[in-house]
Amino acid sequence: MTDRVIALVDAGRRKPLPPVADVAPGLTRDRLGRPMRDLRISVTDRCNFRCTYCMPREVFGADYRFLPHEQLLSFEEIARLANIFASQGIEKIRLTGGEPLLRRNIERLIEMLAAITLPDGKAMELTLTTNASLLERKARALKDAGLKRVTVSLDALDDPTFAAMNDAKFPVAKVLAGIDAADAVGLAPVKINMVVKRGVNEHSILPMAKRFKGSGHVLRFIEFMDVGATNGWRMDDVIPSSEIIRLIGAQMPLDPIDPNYPGEVAERWRYRDGSGEIGVISSVTQAFCRSCTRARISTEGMLYTCLFATTGYDFRALLRSDKSDTEIRAAVAAVWGARDDHYSEIRSAQTAPQRKIEMSYIGG
Ligand code: SF4
Repeated sequence: MTDRVIALVDAGRRKPLPPVADVAPGLTRDRLGRPMRDLRISVTDRCNFRCTYCMPREVFGADYRFLPHEQLLSFEEIARLANIFASQGIEKIRLTGGEPLLRRNIERLIEMLAAITLPDGKAMELTLTTNASLLERKARALKDAGLKRVTVSLDALDDPTFAAMNDAKFPVAKVLAGIDAADAVGLAPVKINMVVKRGVNEHSILPMAKRFKGSGHVLRFIEFMDVGATNGWRMDDVIPSSEIIRLIGAQMPLDPIDPNYPGEVAERWRYRDGSGEIGVISSVTQAFCRSCTRARISTEGMLYTCLFATTGYDFRALLRSDKSDTEIRAAVAAVWGARDDHYSEIRSAQTAPQRKIEMSYIGG
């Protein structure tokens, strides 16, 4: 396991902005021709869980220094930036963290983002990824504020395995109650993300599949990834999605189905008996970089163009300067235009230990 001293952002990890030229509002494409469609915004670097693949307690322990509030983007700054990104082609915003429901008054931010109208007149599609620890209590308010859907992280159905993955003394029953509450208020279908780690929770694959089959919710299995620099990732701990599909398909036959939209992260499989679908997210064994349309804003306003980035661009400085929206939009277009990320295609034993930005800081 890596050392405890993690300076998440230091001078060395900020890239200078590429040359900026005036740009008209409209779709921006990167060097691989990929449009910018999805914006993931991390609203806090804090979490009440310590998932071993994301925020291991050995590193994010009791004396870990989280970002002070004044360094976080304010709701007004997030909304301003989201409007600028919307003018450049962003159609969907996913709120992440850490655990986004820990950010006080997040409903207020959701109201502000839900009010964004896209250039084609449509409303911004607003989703959120949560560990559901607060979802049962907050589901109604989130829905009323304008949230469309939620994705819930759940890595097992039995408390001991759940704790082995999330290092949190938190009952699975409360996560399931959060999913039911989201369903009851119309934040559905709920997507459920299960990270699978060999030797820890692969025995939960079939019970999870059976639990959510026919529920209307979509369970997705995520290959264990070398995100950040602290989760001790090894290829040996990865269970390829093909193995998961074979395991489930042997008992509950599956058929592949087309993506809902270009760039969808999960590969979709439908139960042959018509009782719903599952997904697999295979960043390690089946890279999907060629259709990646995701940009990420960190809790303190750094723009990253890949989940496995090692450096980012400081947009908080621009927001807190006298730069106009037009100038900031030009900077967004310049950054995306210069993008050629495709980490999952070049992943190797040499790249895995690179000091990549932590997932708990920029969201999954
Ligand atoms: S590795 Fe980077 S470029 Fe590839 S899909 Fe993931 S975020 Fe996109």
